[in-house]
Amino acid sequence: MTQWVYSFGAGHNEGRADMRNLLGGKGANLAEMASIGLPVPPGFTITTALCTEFYSNDRRYPDDLDAQLQTALARIEEAVGLRFGDPEQPLLVSVRSGARVSMPGMMDTVLNLGLNDDTVAGLVASSGDARFAWDSYRRFIQMYGSVVLGVDHHRFEEIIETAKIDADVVEDTALTPAHWQAVVDEYKAMVAQETGQPFPMDPRDQLWGAIGAVFGSWMNPRANTYRRLHDIPADWGTAVNVQAMVFGNMGADCATGVCFTRDPSTGENIFYGEFLVNAQGEDVVAGIRTPQPLSDARSKPGEVSMESALPQAYAELVRVRETLERHYSDMQDIEFTVQQNTLYMLQTRTGKRTVAASLRIAVEMANEGLITREEAVRRVNPQALDQLLHPTLDPKARRTLFSKGLPASPGAASGTVVFSADEAEMRAGKGESVVLVRIETSPEDIHGMHAARGILTTRGGMTSHAAVVARGMGRPCVAGAGGVRVDYNAQTLSSGGATIRAGETITLDGATGEVFAGAVAMIEPDLSEDFATLMTWADAVRRLRVRTNAETPLDAETARKFGAEGIGLCRTEHMFFAPERINIVRQMIMADDEGGRRAALDKLLPFQRQDFVELFRIMAGLPVTIRLLDPPLHEFLPHSDAELADAAEGLGQDVEMVRRRAAELSEANPMLGHRGCRLGITYPEIYEMQARAIFEAALAIGQETGSPVVPEIMIPLVGTKRELDITRAQVDRAARAAFAAAGASIEYLVGTMIELPRAALTADRIAEAADFFSFGTNDLTQTVFGLSRDDAGKFLPHYVEAGILPKDPFVSIDIEGVGALVRLAAEKGRQTRPGLKMGICGEHGGDPASIAFCEQVGLDYVSCSPYRVPVARLAAAQAALGAAGDRTA
Ligand code: PEP
Ligand code: MG
Repeated sequence: MTQWVYSFGAGHNEGRADMRNLLGGKGANLAEMASIGLPVPPGFTITTALCTEFYSNDRRYPDDLDAQLQTALARIEEAVGLRFGDPEQPLLVSVRSGARVSMPGMMDTVLNLGLNDDTVAGLVASSGDARFAWDSYRRFIQMYGSVVLGVDHHRFEEIIETAKIDADVVEDTALTPAHWQAVVDEYKAMVAQETGQPFPMDPRDQLWGAIGAVFGSWMNPRANTYRRLHDIPADWGTAVNVQAMVFGNMGADCATGVCFTRDPSTGENIFYGEFLVNAQGEDVVAGIRTPQPLSDARSKPGEVSMESALPQAYAELVRVRETLERHYSDMQDIEFTVQQNTLYMLQTRTGKRTVAASLRIAVEMANEGLITREEAVRRVNPQALDQLLHPTLDPKARRTLFSKGLPASPGAASGTVVFSADEAEMRAGKGESVVLVRIETSPEDIHGMHAARGILTTRGGMTSHAAVVARGMGRPCVAGAGGVRVDYNAQTLSSGGATIRAGETITLDGATGEVFAGAVAMIEPDLSEDFATLMTWADAVRRLRVRTNAETPLDAETARKFGAEGIGLCRTEHMFFAPERINIVRQMIMADDEGGRRAALDKLLPFQRQDFVELFRIMAGLPVTIRLLDPPLHEFLPHSDAELADAAEGLGQDVEMVRRRAAELSEANPMLGHRGCRLGITYPEIYEMQARAIFEAALAIGQETGSPVVPEIMIPLVGTKRELDITRAQVDRAARAAFAAAGASIEYLVGTMIELPRAALTADRIAEAADFFSFGTNDLTQTVFGLSRDDAGKFLPHYVEAGILPKDPFVSIDIEGVGALVRLAAEKGRQTRPGLKMGICGEHGGDPASIAFCEQVGLDYVSCSPYRVPVARLAAAQAALGAAGDRTA
């Protein structure tokens, strides 16, 4: 017999935290909490396996489910001394979904299930509170009606609004039990009219209805989309949790709240959360009433903390916090309810947090001895580090405060105001920076939140949807800015008499909650000590070296600051485009003989030498790979009349001749044309000049710093060994000449890019002439797939969206195809030269998944753009440690 139902609580715990695949995250953790002695109301979990069975069986339940469910339900009844459907003392339950990972878009929660026209009387009697009982009943019809029966929730709200107008009151709390009873009658009538069926009165029908709704929602379009975006297989299924209700809305000694065991924004080791007295579950997140802080230390004037209002339950909660952190060794996100001064735990899970918090928590937990340093390194998502390296508002910048809300997710963002997620996505797609402004956000807004630079909401607290999602995405967010009025129709937001329209610019400071009119200047971030500490720990475990792709002194310095251990790719062509040089470069390529070219190259030599002097100085003592000229000559061609005239004057030729030469040089397919070593072979004087500049600069810096660099000269776009032989001989000749002139010599290496399939396939031969290999996975991807780097944008996004390719292969290496060639070339290279130095310098060098692949292949280093150096250091460490851990940001 398959066990479909697992009980928890009241001393009968059949599940554990590590059964999350079967019981879902919520169910597994409820069982775990119950088994370590925390106060969990008893309940049971119907497994994810049942969900899969349900779908593979034409949406039918297996025959043995009902009996298992009855047994588990009877266990709850016995534990709490109430009976399901009993008109005197009814058991009420909550029904919640709970997949392996939390998944927006699915049916979430139905509370107070089991109420009907009979049992409500029992609840009135047993609680002694008619208002509470009737309010609970109407909440149940409302939740069940909208999430299970699919009635539009506005229909319920209209009825309450009308009841309040008729009763001449403003707040829900001013309605009497008789009012609520009337609301219940109207709800039932409305539901019957909308669905064509009376509202179900039998608690067992209600239970099966709610269970069916949870399983049904697993396949609704929103859940399907979410799964597709997050690579969640449909056959994981969801579990359903049924649990005895506890009430946070039974009076002043009751409450409900959500909290984090550490601050999810900063990571500070303080208890962080909010609660509401006399409220039920969803009230805290709904933002109807303002939640209050947990501790006295955190309360501001006018606020009443839980510590003051419910001292006994608070003390218990503090103990629970300690137990949970010790037990799970990670920051937890907790939901609780207090019923008549007794604390009950309803959920715990690993808390979402900002990357800054993720770093701080990992470092502090390692220092506290809760986790090892390796575990700390595993926990931080390298990709997310990016957020730390981005700007904040310049404290000295002028600004006009517009309003203030809650500091929901740190970082600063400026952009034009848009009011809908679709518009945010559309405008961001055109390259505009936008700030998404909403009264509140819901899972339907995720795409717009992702596209926006920042998010502003006027409703909801620190645990609202906007706050939690923005934090997870690393978007700056100001939530609950109650002083701002949003008018979707007029497309305006106004505060204190000022109005901002759609299309105007605002700036958010997610760390303070401030909202400014207009753009505010920003500054580069100052990296925290935790960042430095975690990086040191990462460096201690990684094997791969991390270099940078840099050609300007600024890039090189930035990369050094981020911990780059040398330059893996200096694209010298970028040095040719500077305004004072481009005309000389044009003269060089337009010259129709070697003499003309040499005359121009002589003028370029001092510039090139100075470039290398500066780079070598910054990288003193570290390896620097310089790639000789690569791009198609046609990229330098003059286009405008003024450019043609300048080039003609420099060459002493007439404009028409220059125009004709430009036409001759233009290519049909430049990416596969006259570029890379093909240039060096047809115009040897170019590489000769570059090599000379490198050697002269290296000799000079060796003398200046006493710490000679070992230049690694790299030949691009090699397809055959013969090409490398020829270009290598040119470099060696230039070296001999430079050393003879200086009366001194230095060490140097000559290697090649492996960026063409032919080079990879013949890497054993090529290695005979190469001191090192550097995999140019940009060109290798282009040539292996036969897709143009410049044109792929027109169709690749569709390929990725339609699942034809799992990822953009220019972002994350295609392990199956491109990766196979890299692996083969690495093996062949090392056959010829054991210990051959190898690295990667395509964009993939900064992508964590590609870095893990480089570790497997045994490359020596990765090279990436300066801002990705920390990402690569951490990813390399995780790759060395094997699979990454449960990442928390
Ligand atoms: C490459 O092709 O991967 C590479 C690093 O060179 P580039 O992008 O300059 O062609
Ligand atoms: Mg290339």
